[in-house]
Order: sequence, then C-alpha cells, then structure tokens
Amino acid sequence: MSCPSASLQNSLRFQRNTSSKQCGSCYACCLCLGIQRLGKKAYQCCPNVVASTKSSCSGRCGIHPNHPEECKKYSCLWLQGAFDSMFPLDVIDSLRPDRCGVLFSSVMSLVSSNTSVLTCYEVYPGSTDSDPGKSLVDKLGALLPVMKWRQDQNTRKMQVSLVGDPNLIRSCSEEIEKMSEETNEQ
Ligand code: SF4
Ligand code: SF4
Repeated sequence: MSCPSASLQNSLRFQRNTSSKQCGSCYACCLCLGIQRLGKKAYQCCPNVVASTKSSCSGRCGIHPNHPEECKKYSCLWLQGAFDSMFPLDVIDSLRPDRCGVLFSSVMSLVSSNTSVLTCYEVYPGSTDSDPGKSLVDKLGALLPVMKWRQDQNTRKMQVSLVGDPNLIRSCSEEIEKMSEETNEQ
C-alpha cells in the first residue's frame, strides 16, 4: 500500500484540469485570495464582483471575459477534481468552497522542511472550527499537512496555522510566521 500523502499528491497531479465541475455561484477565490494585478488583498471582496446581495461577495464577475490572466488561470483544488477519488460522489458537490466554507487552494513547498503542504482558506469566519469544514481539514491534514489561512475578525490581520504532524509544525514555525508577517505588510 502506498503512503497516503503520496497517493494524494498523485491524485492532485493526475486529476488536474480533467474535472467537469463548474464554479457556478461560488466566488470564494474572489474573496479569499490576494490578486496582485488588481491590487486586491486577501479577504477583500474583489471590486469587480457584482454582488447578488449587498452583504455578499458572490454574484458575477463584472469584467468577464476581460478579467486578469491570474483569474483565468486559477482553479481551486475542488474544481481541479483533486478530491474526487477521496469522497463519495454525492459528497463532492457539497465540498465546493462556498458550500463547505473551506477553499483548498494549492499545493505549496515549504523550503525549511522540504515538505509539500496543502494551502486552504477559511471562506466564512470560523468555518474550519465546525463541520463540514473542520472534518474536511482534519481528513486532508491526516494525509498531507494543511496550511490554514483565516482573517482575525477584530484586527483584520491574516493568521496562518498548520494542521498535521506536530514535528513538521515545529520545523516550519519560523517560515510560517515570516509568511504571515509578510502577508499582513502587503
Ligand atoms: S473557489 Fe474554486 S469553485 Fe469557487 S469560484 Fe474559485 S475556482 Fe471556482
Ligand atoms: S476580476 Fe473577476 S474573476 Fe477576478 S477576482 Fe475579480 S471578480 Fe473574481
């Protein structure tokens, strides 16, 4: 039997862009991600979102199809079908980032420990503290460490934490702290 994290990495590698999923009404990445080209910081709703309600960051992209290349090229791990082999078909739809509250964004290499980690963002405040977000992060964290970003609701600062192997967390703590400081300075 292969190592679970290796099989997850293989699944990420091989299922990229083969998914037939659609973003639909999800705009989680237009909220959670920083987009350099637009001067948009993480957790600022993109000013180009034509929101369906005053308080939401979902609706439609007001500059589509002329949105930046960064947006055109981006697809989250759910859209890539990276988790399709891990969950029953009837669960997969509920894992769309706006529905489950967690946006799994990419696989990233940490230099300090020479490890690959999954990066994810809390779409709603506290969405990784309760289910289904918590179970999803825990399940994936058992396979590959998960770097979890959220916004502190009082200070509005970005916070990052690592879910998974405690040894890895210790060995990466300095690099993660630096990353968090840099993100908040931008
Ligand atoms: S978070 Fe994923 S599913 Fe949602 S809009 Fe972005 S790419 Fe599409
Ligand atoms: S430009 Fe459009 S696709 Fe890109 S972040 Fe803004 S709303 Fe989303």
